[in-house]
Amino acid sequence: MEEEEGPEFGKPDFVLLDQVTMEDFMDNLKLRFEKGRIYTYIGEVVVSVNPYRKLPLYGPEMIAKYQGRELYERPPHLYAVADAAHKAMKRRAKDTCIVISGESGAGKTEASKHIMQYIAAITNPSQRAEVERVKDVLLKSTCVLEAFGNAHTNRNHNSSRFGKYMDINFDFKGDPTGGHIHSYLLEKSRVLKQHSGERNFHSFYQVRDEADHGAGKGSSDSDEANYQAVIQAMKVIGFSSDEMDCVHRILAAILHLGNIQFVETESGLEVAEERLVDHVARLTATPRDLVMRSLLSRTVASGGRELIEKDHSAPEARYARDACAKAIYERLFGWIVGRINEVMEARGRDPRRDGKDTVIGVLDIYGFEIFPDNSFEQFCINYCNEKLQQLFIQLILKQEQEEYQREGITWQNIEYFNNSAIVELVERPHRGVLAILDEACASVGTVTDRLFLQSLDTHHRHHPHYTSRQLCPTDKTMEFGRDFRIKHYAGDVTVCSGTYSTDLTLRSMWPDGQQDITEVTKRPLTAGTLFKNSMVALVENLAAKEPYYVRCIKPNEEKSPGHLDEERCRHQVAYLGLLENVRVRRAGFASRQPYPRFLLRYKMTCEYTWPNHLLGSDKSAVGALLEQHGLKDDVAFGHNKLFIRSPRTLVTLEQSRARL
Ligand code: ATP
Ligand code: MG
Repeated sequence: MEEEEGPEFGKPDFVLLDQVTMEDFMDNLKLRFEKGRIYTYIGEVVVSVNPYRKLPLYGPEMIAKYQGRELYERPPHLYAVADAAHKAMKRRAKDTCIVISGESGAGKTEASKHIMQYIAAITNPSQRAEVERVKDVLLKSTCVLEAFGNAHTNRNHNSSRFGKYMDINFDFKGDPTGGHIHSYLLEKSRVLKQHSGERNFHSFYQVRDEADHGAGKGSSDSDEANYQAVIQAMKVIGFSSDEMDCVHRILAAILHLGNIQFVETESGLEVAEERLVDHVARLTATPRDLVMRSLLSRTVASGGRELIEKDHSAPEARYARDACAKAIYERLFGWIVGRINEVMEARGRDPRRDGKDTVIGVLDIYGFEIFPDNSFEQFCINYCNEKLQQLFIQLILKQEQEEYQREGITWQNIEYFNNSAIVELVERPHRGVLAILDEACASVGTVTDRLFLQSLDTHHRHHPHYTSRQLCPTDKTMEFGRDFRIKHYAGDVTVCSGTYSTDLTLRSMWPDGQQDITEVTKRPLTAGTLFKNSMVALVENLAAKEPYYVRCIKPNEEKSPGHLDEERCRHQVAYLGLLENVRVRRAGFASRQPYPRFLLRYKMTCEYTWPNHLLGSDKSAVGALLEQHGLKDDVAFGHNKLFIRSPRTLVTLEQSRARL
């Protein structure tokens, strides 16, 4: 490790702690944080604490320090992990992914931007124009997506209200040739309603400012500055001025739509301010009549094949208006993502992989959310985190332990919190919460919240991670017939079921955005099932790649620089499973290689193995080689693989190979 990582900065890797206790972990985290060392490793995992202040850790000089280096050669940094992922891709044609997790405000999006900037900086040394174009689009896409998908919340002034997974494609030279963005569950209810102190998506203030020349309230100079940056970014990506104009008109139409009120008159339901309807019609280039009709009535199938128009009641009209505003925004967002993807479509092909590109995926997805009242959106977000935690457990903890067992390496089992019961509770076919919800939505009209809850209670009465007021009558923090609670690994979350099933009739009339129809039932898939399917696909995709992890920690609730609230951090360390991670890593080995591969690389460094060994088995040949180097104490011999404890051993071997 370099000088700049002296002992006064604590341990750069939690694996080096004297003892693996929460106290030791926290002492080290705190010491490093106070000295501006916000990054610390657990093996190859980066633990990052949001400093809430500008630190001199980024930029071209820093990037140069990390480029092409091994992980442990420099102080811990996101750049080192980005480099490791890039090396794996370039040298071994391995698909990799970098999974960034942590709660709202922990610094995930900032981390993902540093990683992208690093990758952009170290690639394309020959300045190929096409690669430069792709890099520009990759970097600028962030700015555009933040404008439309981020908002000021109480926890983070630039909170991502959607999950984002971005694949970057590389050619065999290791240069980016394209990319693809998947977005997950945009929090579209924000278009209509924000908690006190929170704002709508940034984009709305930006257009309004543009229209009012900064006169609007709730907006700020930074909206104006960002607006210019967004326009610039959209131009670079290749949005035409017509397209940008259209985006602005849609945003304005949504704002007007949201202001429409209804009055009941003698002759039926009417719109209070008709000029708002005029605006919406003009801005969306829709006949005025059609806008009016779709607010005040709907078309239904009567009996056979005949279609009839049925007038809305006032609540129905309000629901129609809101559903429409949300759906328009969601589609606008989806269209922007699609447009960026079109521009980034990969052109390069990697001959080493039968013409398939090699990929680095970067996942920046919402962390756990626990509010006083949690809706369907929180339910989905928390389920997503359980899935990712399960993947982390599988990849880092379980696989590791299982491999040692398979290879016959002495190993003390480490207890870790296995969350698969919670994942099952949500997604299990037929009786999981989502399946029961689907059923409730299908039997529109007959099922009420109470029945939905009853069904949950019946199926999960004895589930250790489920409870409701019915099952736990003394718990006054839940309401009868309305709330149920899921005990997540990050904490208990009380979910208000009203958000699921009230107005089921209305919901079925206005299926949210998606139009996928299941073959079996000919019904649109519910938002919950769609989300589950997208999560299952995401996890499959990640599991097929070599994973790198960034675990972000939020130091305090006040966004204050330099302050670390120990209680809050301890909680995060616990639920991110970081102590277990250290234990597994400590008991574990930095590297493992099948004996033949090891010999192939190092046999020239030892007289007994060069050019070929006569020692019976590859295993004993490797033993002789390590004996000669004096490295035998640092390894364990598995049935088929050699396990190397410290990276130093590999460095020594590499050096003696290089000396020849
Ligand atoms: P959310 O889940 O709400 O999207 P997040 O984890 O993506 O949250 P960020 O938006 O990345 O959080 O970070 C929140 C704020 O913290 C940033 O706007 C920035 O002010 C500050 N911050 C985060 N990381 C850093 C950093 N490395 N250096 C300086 N400030 C940072
Ligand atoms: Mg974010």
